[in-house]
Order: sequence, then structure tokens, then C-alpha cells
Amino acid sequence: MTAPRSDSWQPEVIVIGSGIGGLATAARLARHGARVLALEQHSVPGGSASHFARAGYRFDVGASLLYGLGTEGTINFVAEALAEVGEAVETRRDEVQIHYHLPDGLEIRTHYDRERFLEELIRHFPSERAGIRAFYDAAMAAYRVLARVPLIALDDIAGLMRGVATAPLDALRMSQAALTTLGDLARRHIRDARLRRFIDIETFCWALTGADATPLVNAALVFGDRHVNGVRYPLGGCSVIAEKLAAGIERLGGRIRYGSRVLAGLLDRGRARGVKLASGETITARAVVSNATAWDTYGRLFKEHPLAGVALREQSLRYAQADSFTSLFGGVAVERLPAETVVHHIVVNDWDAYDKPRGMLFVSLPSLHDASLAPPGYHNVHAFMVDRYDDWAALTQRAATGGGARRTPGYRAAKEAAARRMLSLLERVIPDASEAVQVVSVGTPLTNERYLARTRGTYGPLLRRGPDVLLKPQGGSLIRGLYCAGDSCFPGQGVPSVAASGLSCADRILRAW
Ligand SMILES: Cc1cc2nc3c(=O)[nH]c(=O)nc-3n(C[C@H](O)[C@H](O)[C@H](O)COP(=O)(O)OP(=O)(O)OC[C@H]3O[C@@H](n4cnc5c(N)ncnc54)[C@H](O)[C@@H]3O)c2cc1C
Repeated sequence: MTAPRSDSWQPEVIVIGSGIGGLATAARLARHGARVLALEQHSVPGGSASHFARAGYRFDVGASLLYGLGTEGTINFVAEALAEVGEAVETRRDEVQIHYHLPDGLEIRTHYDRERFLEELIRHFPSERAGIRAFYDAAMAAYRVLARVPLIALDDIAGLMRGVATAPLDALRMSQAALTTLGDLARRHIRDARLRRFIDIETFCWALTGADATPLVNAALVFGDRHVNGVRYPLGGCSVIAEKLAAGIERLGGRIRYGSRVLAGLLDRGRARGVKLASGETITARAVVSNATAWDTYGRLFKEHPLAGVALREQSLRYAQADSFTSLFGGVAVERLPAETVVHHIVVNDWDAYDKPRGMLFVSLPSLHDASLAPPGYHNVHAFMVDRYDDWAALTQRAATGGGARRTPGYRAAKEAAARRMLSLLERVIPDASEAVQVVSVGTPLTNERYLARTRGTYGPLLRRGPDVLLKPQGGSLIRGLYCAGDSCFPGQGVPSVAASGLSCADRILRAW
């Protein structure tokens, strides 16, 4: 049912941002009849999972390797968020999740077919046969537990008690998995240093941390679900998820306003009561949800609140701020791709550099799934590497009269050098990439900061060494009336995780009402 549009329409909940975390919150709230207004500074929904179109290509700005779109078990959070508003996306499954191009010419593919993946790994590391099986079996066992248990906010005590009472063994196994790191598990079963490094690389490419800082409970989701629901690509591009969520929310009477940057939260006797936009307009509501990062929420939007400093300090004690990315968006003629090229690749040419800025190249070729994303006869190429914000910020000048920052001539030269670096790594995927790939655009950490409205263009908070994922904020905040959703909350980065955080944030608001 579409709500009647009238000037008297007053939101009950304001969501700052329309990333997948914010949209999932709004979707569940709208389904429960709440009047919800999402305010997005950009012109499109989706944030890090949005798109831009240029030169006949449609590029995903970030996410393109997706879990959470299947139907088995209880962890299909993206599909669940879409279902809240009566939507679904058509997907193609990746038969190879990632093709790893590693040092010493080592090539490993993680197949959807688990046996095929394990046998391929064992072929490369025959002396580790038993260890490989024991390690990945333990991850699969943890996944099976996760896939049985519905997501419950850890501070929803009543929900937790019900969960523990109905499945005490699963609850016990889950807490063990949360207290074990993937590194502990690897040391228990694997001796070969290169294989252990491969596991670090497998983890780093979605967590941006090695196995030692990754709880088994997080890794199990990826290591298990890739062989069950699999990695899936939505036809039309990843941003179709955000676009469908946005359309569904509006159909249920919610509203989304684009080009609406929130400058600050409004406070009333210590309670979040609404927002002030960059245009000067103020809007009030019963509750405010921030889909921004914790650094933006407490360091900018709600910095006037006396508890914002406490929240920021807690954040920096527990989590490191991840670096940002530099991305290359381009195209390649269909005939330049070797036969059997898969969609997603990771390139690492130095075993010790995988976790250093520019040490790992992430590559996606999504038009292999959907030809409409590129001009006829071409594929789109998205390659990116972790990169340092400060190196790029040094290449801007503050205008003498105040106002914004200006890029120096060195900025353009640095973009060209970064593109050359990415193209040279891309040679492992596309022969003669430096010549074959037509560069359409290069985005830097400053681009991410600007278009995604994320402090320093960061990928978000990284768990410090140790299994403290359970301590991640659960969607509430120290500020009354303020809720949070997105990658600064439990469980963390990644489209399915932020969808989960949004759904659980909505549950928390509904419980409080
Ligand atoms: C290069 C890259 C590749 C990635 N690859 C993958 C992948 O393959 N698979 C995967 O699952 N995940 C991937 N991720 C991670 C995933 O995209 C993110 O973790 C997730 O999309 C973050 O969602 P979010 O809702 O927390 O925040 P965001 O996507 O950051 O959304 C927040 C939204 O809030 C808006 N906003 C912020 N402040 C304000 C304000 N003051 N006023 C109004 N609007 C505001 C922003 O414009 C943005 O739209 C990738 C990320 C990047 C950057």
C-alpha cells in the first residue's frame, strides 16, 4: 500500500544514509508499518554497493562478490532484507568463487564444489592432505551451526535465552567458534608456511585482516556458505539490490531523499531527536539511525553529545581504522580474455606483501555474468587495491580562501602510476593487460571519502588481533534515541553482514516501541 503523499507526513524514524545497512533497517521498519525516511547525500542508493555508468559500462563501485543471496539455512540476509519489501533479485552463481594467482606461479581456484576445491588444494600441498581436510571440515562444522541458528542480537537477552534453551549444544559450539581465531585453527592442523599464508590471503580478501585476527565464526560463514548457497551475482549489477530495496521501501510508504546530506544530529536533553541537513532544513523523528561509520557518527554527526567522545575512544581501543582503496574501472575486448576466465580474481606476487597497501589486487569481471553491463564486444574490469589515504591527501591543496581541497598536478600523475601498478598485476589475469585494458576511470581514497561519505574513505573498523567480534556494537548506542546499522556494527563489513546489522537494528527499534 502506498502512503498518501502530503506535507503533513512526519517520519517516525530517520535513517542517515542509504547503504545496504540503512536500507535493510528501513525495509524491516517499513514492513512493520513505521514511517521511515532515509536521507542520502549521494544521488543513488547503495553506498559501497552502488554503481556508476560511464562510456557504456555499468561499474559496481565496490562490492561484487556476494554471499547472502541464497535460500539454504538462516544466513541469507540480503535475500531476507529484499523479502521484507516483497523483492528478490535474479542471480548467477559463480562455479569458481575466486581464482587466486599467487607467488611462485601458484594458481588455486576455490570451487563451489567443495570436493573439487579440497582436491585442488591437496594437489598443490600433498603432504598436508589430512590437515587440509581437518581444517576445512572444522570451518564447515562451525558453518553448519551458524546456518541452523537464527541471528539474534547478542544483547537481546530474552532472545538469547530462548536460543540457548532450545539449542544448548549449538549455542555452546557457536561461542567456542567466536572465541577461536582462524589462525588458531590453521596452526592446529597445517604445517606448511605457504599454505598457512594462502589461508591468510583467503581471509584478507574479505576481512582485510589475516587469519590471526579473524574469529572462526566469521570465517566459517565464508568458508562454508561458498559451497552451499555459493557466491552469486545479481543480474543488472550489484546496485540492483539497493535499487530494489529502495523501491520496495517507497512502495510500503517509506521515503528516500537523495542529495540530502545530514550535517548534524539534533539533540533534545541528551536524546537524538532528528537531523539538520546541509541545506539548513531540520527534520525531527522519534528515533534516528546512523548508517554512517562510527567515526562519522560520533566524530561528526553527533559530536556535540557528551558521550560521543566516549564512544569514539571505545571504538579506537577495540578496532583499527582500515585503509581505503584505489580502483581502476576499465574495459577489455571479449577476445582478449583467455577461455575459462572466471569473474573474481585475487593477485598476490609477494607472499609477504598480501596485507600491505598495494600488495593484493582484487579483480572482478562481472559482465561475464551479465553482458548488458558493458558495450557489445567488451567486458567491464574492476580492479582495486588497498591504499593509504594520507598518500593521496598529501597531493591536495587547501584553497587559500578556505573552502574545499584542490588536487595538485601530482595527483593526476599519482593516479596514472597507480593505474600502471594495477595493470601490471592484472597481467596475471589478462595477458598484456597494460595494453589490452582501456582505462575508463581511476578512483582513489579521496574519491571514496567524497562519494561514500566515509571518513578517510575507510573500509571500516578492523578487529584487532583476537576474537572480539562479539564486542562489536549491536545497533544501539550510548546516545538515547540513536541507533546504528552498517559495517561499524556487528558482524562487520560485507553486504550480507551489513544487511544482517540493519535487520537486527530494526528489530531493536521495534522491541523498544
Ligand atoms: C572497493 C570495495 C569492494 C568491496 N567488495 C565487496 C564484495 O565483493 N562483497 C561484499 O560483500 N562486500 C564488499 N565490500 C564491502 C561492502 O560493500 C560494505 O561493507 C557495505 O556495502 C557497507 O554498507 P553500509 O551500509 O555499512 O555503508 P555504506 O555502503 O558506506 O553506506 C552508507 C551510506 O550513507 C551515506 N551517508 C553517509 N553519511 C551521510 C550523511 N551525513 N548524510 C547523508 N548520507 C550519508 C553514504 O553516502 C552511503 O550511501 C566492498 C567495499 C569496497 C569499498
